[in-house]
Amino acid sequence: MKVKLDKAILPGQSTVFEMNFRSQIPLQTRRSGRDSNEGVDFSMSQWYPKMANYDQRGWYARPYIGREFYAPFGTFDVKISMPKAYVLGGTGVVQNPDEVGHGYGAKQAFGDTLKWHFKAENVHDFAWVADTDYAHDTAITSGGKKIHILYLKQNVQAWGGMKEVAPKILDKLSELFGDYGYPQFTIAQAGDGGMEYPMIIFITGSRGSLQSLLGVTIHEGAHEWFYGMMGSNEMDYAWMDEGFTSYATTEVAGKLLRNQIDPSHAGAFGGILMARKYGFYEPLSTPSDWFATNSGYSTAAYSGGQMIAEMLGYVISPELRDKWFLEYYKKFRFRHPEPHDLELLAEKVSGLQLDWFFDQWTLRNWKNDYTISKLSYNKTEKGYETVIKLKRLGRAAMPIDLQFVLEDGSNQWVNIPLSEMMGHKPVPSEWKVLPAWGWTSPEYTVTIALPQKPLYAEIDPFGLMLDENRLNNISKGKYAYVTKFMNPLQNYSNRYSRVWSLYPAYNSRMGIGFGAQIKGIAPFGDDLLNTQMTLYPILGSYDYQINNLSDALALLNYDFLYEKELGERVGDWRAKLSFDSDQGIVEDRLFVTRNLTPSWDRNKPKRILSVGFTHNDRIIENAYPNKGYIWSDKNVLSGMVLYRVSRGDKLIEALVEFGGASIDKPQFLSDYNSANRFSVKAQRRLLTGKQKSVLARVQAGIGVRNLAPQKRFIAGSPDLENQWRSDAYRTLSSLSAITEVKAFSGVGPVSYGIGGPNEGYYILAGSLLWELTPKFKPALLAPLTANVFAGMATVGDGLLGDAGLALNYNLVSLASLQRWVGQSDVLAGMNLSLKFPFFVTMPRHVDGKNRFAFRYLFGVEHAF
Ligand SMILES: [Zn+2]
Repeated sequence: MKVKLDKAILPGQSTVFEMNFRSQIPLQTRRSGRDSNEGVDFSMSQWYPKMANYDQRGWYARPYIGREFYAPFGTFDVKISMPKAYVLGGTGVVQNPDEVGHGYGAKQAFGDTLKWHFKAENVHDFAWVADTDYAHDTAITSGGKKIHILYLKQNVQAWGGMKEVAPKILDKLSELFGDYGYPQFTIAQAGDGGMEYPMIIFITGSRGSLQSLLGVTIHEGAHEWFYGMMGSNEMDYAWMDEGFTSYATTEVAGKLLRNQIDPSHAGAFGGILMARKYGFYEPLSTPSDWFATNSGYSTAAYSGGQMIAEMLGYVISPELRDKWFLEYYKKFRFRHPEPHDLELLAEKVSGLQLDWFFDQWTLRNWKNDYTISKLSYNKTEKGYETVIKLKRLGRAAMPIDLQFVLEDGSNQWVNIPLSEMMGHKPVPSEWKVLPAWGWTSPEYTVTIALPQKPLYAEIDPFGLMLDENRLNNISKGKYAYVTKFMNPLQNYSNRYSRVWSLYPAYNSRMGIGFGAQIKGIAPFGDDLLNTQMTLYPILGSYDYQINNLSDALALLNYDFLYEKELGERVGDWRAKLSFDSDQGIVEDRLFVTRNLTPSWDRNKPKRILSVGFTHNDRIIENAYPNKGYIWSDKNVLSGMVLYRVSRGDKLIEALVEFGGASIDKPQFLSDYNSANRFSVKAQRRLLTGKQKSVLARVQAGIGVRNLAPQKRFIAGSPDLENQWRSDAYRTLSSLSAITEVKAFSGVGPVSYGIGGPNEGYYILAGSLLWELTPKFKPALLAPLTANVFAGMATVGDGLLGDAGLALNYNLVSLASLQRWVGQSDVLAGMNLSLKFPFFVTMPRHVDGKNRFAFRYLFGVEHAF
């Protein structure tokens, strides 16, 4: 709404606007409205025509489209008439406590209606809540500020303890960022998620425990500083509001709830690096409504501002950063600070020039990456004359903290300021400050005398600056690894991770085996190396004979997998090279996969295109699996194109493969060695709702008549080649002397698991799964699910079909097994299934019993 002034308001003058407006309170959408999902009657925010702000850049009358607000400070004098049963909370102090009662005053006025009178000074918004079922607790901070806590009475279990913790939160925030500048603070169960308004926060409250309320209470509470009192222009600089609030949340939650001295902000750094790698990062000072993606906005606003606060501590020292926050409060309380105000203040507090810092970290999306050469040293009388070269790989420039780790376990810290700073941060007396690094030089040589032999040097070992690649921050040598034994592989941002595992294996043909596994990983999923070896020394074997080199080599099983990112952005292009040998079968593959939708975008269907080559061969007689199927004894080489679109449970996949027996055994197109085939699969959920979720799947495929056995279509199971690729299935099936194990989760009937009429060169199949999810309480039964299944298929010889009941046990979801699942591909794929097909169409192909005989099958479920 635009109001034309009768005459201009000059500085220092005032005028009066009068406005009558009527409004119908809508059902709650997001943060505002009536009758919230939790049953709160009124969550009243953005409920009145609000004055736009006018600052040095003019009017800010942008329409609110869902992200941030910006408004002038003022005094609000608000009177609300409500039926007597309602308890209210709002911005400001209740002026007539003894008239409204309800925990504000001891008495209450007569009549059916209460007139609530709120008054608030130095605020830029007014919000209020009302409900007839609110419990009203109060508390007082050590500074004497009143806290009102309003929550629906049924949530007393989680909310009852809030009155003990809330004053501590406000006290801690006051200690770190300046006194809470308002006379009262209201924490109200209202709205949706969590949202800040002056003197009142709305948080959803049907959370299980007090603990689950505290994170959001601290966050919204910290907004009373960064939004409430320091009314920055969050429409243009959301990072000054959400970012500093996120920083304060991490600090207060860490110090107050977890007794941490120096809480880590690594999560924010990780989020920014991820956003940069996936390509949706945008500079911090992008206007809030202009971000291309929600993820880009939240990364810049929340993690970005948190990073600025943390990294300023790295540049000017943590003590001066803390002082800067307090000065910021002193100078800009109840004002509208801008980024330049922050910069000027940081320069005054530190005595350093910092325009370069704010410029490159808030206006640009520059890469920051420092690396270090190999360390060299000479022993002299004075100690160890050490030389090491540093290199700036990105466009961004930063001062450097460098740590030398010495032979006796002690450290020597070094600070290299940036020339633009015109000085250096205060450092402890045992540190050495070296000459400044000029902005224009990409390299810098450190020459230093060390008292002990240096083992290695590392740039910023505690990760206080955002560095794109922290693996290259350490001087070359054996120290860039963390090696663990019998532990899951972990992502370290500054070390390669190596894991050794030892495990026994058993194979009914080769006996007992012993394996060693070594895996390596680089951070953020860029590259991955996974190798493992298992040796079968033929212990306890009853029929394995070594007749030639192949037979001997078959005793050594190996898996080697290397995945590499090819594109500029992570997840766009990925190459996979693998060499596998297991139970007499070898397979070598090279695949390139293109993500056609950005892998981080969960709103769009995931579309991938994979192109690659596969070579496989059977190197010993009677190789895997030693019952039922026979694998082609030829080298089969094929090319393959796979296209897949998926979204949640919906999936469509098409595969084309071409090739056949290879050159050294030139029976190309001869009997049963071709790989020419085409197949389409689709899946979707038909009925959804409580206990009513049916998964429908169909598959159609056709190949040439002499399709190699491992490529043939199997009703109810993946093809043989895909079965073999599953560690879980091949491990279990190698125990087949003990039990009969099948692979499930193809399309079609499940009871036809053994070679015969259920495999062929073409397939037309469909299945329905009605998933039942019983709520088992005991932990051991939690992974148990059940379904009713029915499937039909033809693979060449009549119509196969079955129907029955299945029990699935998903070992992976057992909490107590997580540690082991993390280091074992076999356990990770272990979804065990017990099926009771009470009806089959062609009993003669299954077990010769009648159609309705009692049958059961035990198997491993694969991902479809
Ligand atoms: Zn926030």
